[in-house]
Amino acid sequence: MTKTAGDSTVTRRQLLGGLTATAAATLAAGAAAVPRSEVKSWDMRTAVLVIGSGAAGVSAAIEARRAGAHVLLIESLPRFGGSSAMSGGVVYAGGGTALQKALKVEDSPEQMYRFLTLAGALHPPLDKIQLYCEGSAEHFDWLVEQGIPYTDKLTLAKGLPMGDASLYFSGTELAWPARDLAVPAPRGHVPGVPGMNGGRRLMEALLSQADALGVKMHAQVDAHRLVTESDGRIVGVIATVDGEQRAIAVQRGVVLACGGFIHNRDMLRAYAPHLYECSVPWGNAADLGAGINMGIAVGAAALRMNEGFAIAPIYPPESVLSGIIVNTSGQRFISEESYHGVLGDAIAYHQRGRAWLITDRDSSYAFHQDNFLPVAKASTIGDIAAQLEFPKGALQQTVAYYNLHAANGEDPMFRKSQTYLRPLQGPPYTAWDLSTSQAFFPAHTFGGLHTTSDGQVLSSFGEEIPGLYAAGRNTAGIPTAPYIASGISVGDCTFFGRRAGRAAAAQRRVAG
Ligand SMILES: Cc1cc2nc3c(=O)[nH]c(=O)nc-3n(C[C@H](O)[C@H](O)[C@H](O)COP(=O)(O)OP(=O)(O)OC[C@H]3O[C@@H](n4cnc5c(N)ncnc54)[C@H](O)[C@@H]3O)c2cc1C
Repeated sequence: MTKTAGDSTVTRRQLLGGLTATAAATLAAGAAAVPRSEVKSWDMRTAVLVIGSGAAGVSAAIEARRAGAHVLLIESLPRFGGSSAMSGGVVYAGGGTALQKALKVEDSPEQMYRFLTLAGALHPPLDKIQLYCEGSAEHFDWLVEQGIPYTDKLTLAKGLPMGDASLYFSGTELAWPARDLAVPAPRGHVPGVPGMNGGRRLMEALLSQADALGVKMHAQVDAHRLVTESDGRIVGVIATVDGEQRAIAVQRGVVLACGGFIHNRDMLRAYAPHLYECSVPWGNAADLGAGINMGIAVGAAALRMNEGFAIAPIYPPESVLSGIIVNTSGQRFISEESYHGVLGDAIAYHQRGRAWLITDRDSSYAFHQDNFLPVAKASTIGDIAAQLEFPKGALQQTVAYYNLHAANGEDPMFRKSQTYLRPLQGPPYTAWDLSTSQAFFPAHTFGGLHTTSDGQVLSSFGEEIPGLYAAGRNTAGIPTAPYIASGISVGDCTFFGRRAGRAAAAQRRVAG
């Protein structure tokens, strides 16, 4: 018998649990699974079906095809490539990649593992990170083999290289506390093409490789429901093609690689409220959580749904890092030189989305900023504090303390490097608004389906859902909040996408 709220045997905990489940079910409503018995006939058949043509999906398709399976890849939008093609194309790789060796950069899987496990989130997915670090050098070779061009050039400038350098410090390795936790090494591997074109180049190479291997690719096919056999196995997908429902039979495995959910406002508010106010949803238009919801609809667990990449890109120029960043109490809360994902995380998740960069005469931006508006300008710090209505004397105390120690080359609170550390020393002083809703503050999501390191989707009870795999931002992978380096997401998509594709191709064949 179904218990109701009026039933005295329903505890408060059960009631609240029930409401939570109802909310999740409502969010995933359009993704309800279809029983096999309701599918009258199949319109298409394949051994492996990959849903989504970003870095995760195409890497999965390449490896499934190489393993000998017939592979169909479908994409809801007219163009292939997803957010991956919009990206900088940075892959976080290390432990002695061929490029690091060519450039005489010392690194080891152990130091890379220390950085990824100690400098970021609490309780990160250790098993996946270990595999990733141990396999990173081989994975870089694989990327090269797919035709992605890298140059033997290293840059030490902060930020994504806009020239043709292919190796740089893409994260927070050199900032405190990370630099004390692991030996810093440049691990951002980016295709050697000028401008913000790395992602496009990376995806061109992967897509042409998939095509050459014989992966069948169809655009404008929008998958929305999984088909389940009576024993729970996933045996097909319902998709919309030209406004018509089509049933695709899948004999070995479905790989969900539909990206994250930054454009789904309802999911964002429910799961990741800290990202809700961020002014720029960073991702392609189909980042709607469809794959995550299809998984939830068949009982998959979703992890880290609140986490994401919130970015406060205050540099370049690096000169502004000699300013200070303060919260609504007029107090510093981070080393200003931190990677912009670490800084963005601190503002979005820990300062209720509000912060200001205070610069002096020499650290100010030289030109008008589209990213951040100047919201106070004055000849004294006291006037800045008054204009921003900070608590009485707070900003003045912060600056006095900072200046006192900076004059001796010290930053007792956040150990800013000597490169950027000096007292604030002359007007005009300017406060730049870094708040999530007012500044240029991009964000995308990290939460997704719970998977094994081979991409097998797991239920809330830790059981494998037969025939269902996932990769990339459709899953809870190694990118966690705070995001400590560019390239962890595309690195995770390609590395674990490959594994998911191989595992799906190796599945026992079912009749379809
Ligand atoms: C401007 C920008 C720069 C970035 N730079 C970097 C970087 O340099 N390095 C890095 O690591 N990360 C970067 N990121 C983040 C990174 O691009 C993404 O996290 C990553 O590419 C996600 O890859 P994916 O394969 O999981 O998803 P995507 O690349 O988004 O691919 C998912 C695909 O699935 C399709 N799809 C969705 N729903 C359906 C459906 N129902 N049916 C069929 N198809 C569907 C989508 O249209 C899309 O093509 C950047 C992001 C942006 C926006």
